Amino acid sequence: MTRSDTLFEQAKKTIPGGVNSPVRAFSSVGGSPRFIEKADGAYIYDADGNAYIDYVGSWGPMILGHNHPKIREAVLAAVENGLSFGAPTELEVTMAEKVIEMVPSMEQVRMVSSGTEATMSAIRLARGFTSRDKILKFEGCYHGHADCLLVKAGSGALTLGQPSSPGIPEDFAKHTLTATYNDLESVKALFEQYPEEISCIILEPVAGNMNCIPPVDGFLQGLRAICDQYGALMIIDEVMTGFRVSKSGAQGYYGVTPDLTTLGKVIGGGMPVGAFGGRKDVMQFIAPTGPVYQAGTLSGNPIAMSAGLAQMEELCADGVYEELAAKTKRIAEGFKSAANKHGIPMSINYVGGMFGLFFTEEEKVTSFEQVTKCDADKFPIFYHGMLDEGIYLAPSAYEAGFLSMAHGEKELEETLAAADRVFAKMAK
Ligand code: PMP
Repeated sequence: MTRSDTLFEQAKKTIPGGVNSPVRAFSSVGGSPRFIEKADGAYIYDADGNAYIDYVGSWGPMILGHNHPKIREAVLAAVENGLSFGAPTELEVTMAEKVIEMVPSMEQVRMVSSGTEATMSAIRLARGFTSRDKILKFEGCYHGHADCLLVKAGSGALTLGQPSSPGIPEDFAKHTLTATYNDLESVKALFEQYPEEISCIILEPVAGNMNCIPPVDGFLQGLRAICDQYGALMIIDEVMTGFRVSKSGAQGYYGVTPDLTTLGKVIGGGMPVGAFGGRKDVMQFIAPTGPVYQAGTLSGNPIAMSAGLAQMEELCADGVYEELAAKTKRIAEGFKSAANKHGIPMSINYVGGMFGLFFTEEEKVTSFEQVTKCDADKFPIFYHGMLDEGIYLAPSAYEAGFLSMAHGEKELEETLAAADRVFAKMAK
């Protein structure tokens, strides 16, 4: 028994499934999750003293690598002044200004404490602003676990085979329409059916909760046009992509302007943070300026703001995104060549600092349906092979992988050499 095994058994007695968020439980790959003791740079270390090169990065936010000195210093300095005030601070103003500078479609922004809160609040605002009840999302996209968004969802819901959760009354779920990602016709059909009832479209601009599916050419622009035609708001959920795909988010990368944007973990530099913002006339509709209620005792927490600001400052340095994209390309292409070398079919997708690997014969994976048809038996074998080699990937075939600036040549080379050995074994 490893220490992780022991801790997992102990945890299951007091925490449902032994974890505080389902995908962590290794349900789809089997075995005990590694209990993590510390992390630094590109590495995480488990309770048994094993080091792993980390491609999860706390599910996205650790773009600069773990325990970055600038972020650590900012947090420690902020701690000296107290942990929470529940009153406005200058830090929040600086944060709002920084977010708006980086994502120009956000004319005003409000901080929350998680991605779930950000999307839940944005949806309420869209419904309040348009006086319409229905929302449109895409099958396989995950936007947190608010009732209306946990319908045909991705991420852990998909991994555990429960894309729509019990506990959500049919009366609520009926207002959530689901369309097919990268298929504008499926969206048009729903708008033709409900021309004056849909308040908003919410989407991941690069779907990262059904593995990694970038938008096909014209998809985002087409959604924008449909929203304009029917008077619905376009909400781009950049909880994963914001400041990971580019300095101005995926919306900057693909050149599309939403009405509202949601941001999450990435802007907290590892602290629990989220935000939503967008057109000023829409944002003015929330309390206290407007009638739509939204609040949070710890929103804009000074420690979280300090961590997030320190990370965003670093991300604005020249060349960060070029370097991140080059590393991501190298790792994704390297995985594919290693798999193909051993006769294992693999397709890959990558954008900015995120990538996806698919065990499939398909040349290109662009749809949820293709994702669900990938070889489900290969992933757990690959996963544990890599874990044994000291490479930590997300424990689900439905999650994207993440690079950080701390991944150097050595780590990339070691990862690809490990992949070569694992694929060689799998091919036997
Ligand atoms: N939106 C997207 C696109 C996400 O990837 C996630 C979480 N992975 C969320 C929303 C929810 O964020 P949180 O887990 O912080 O509530």
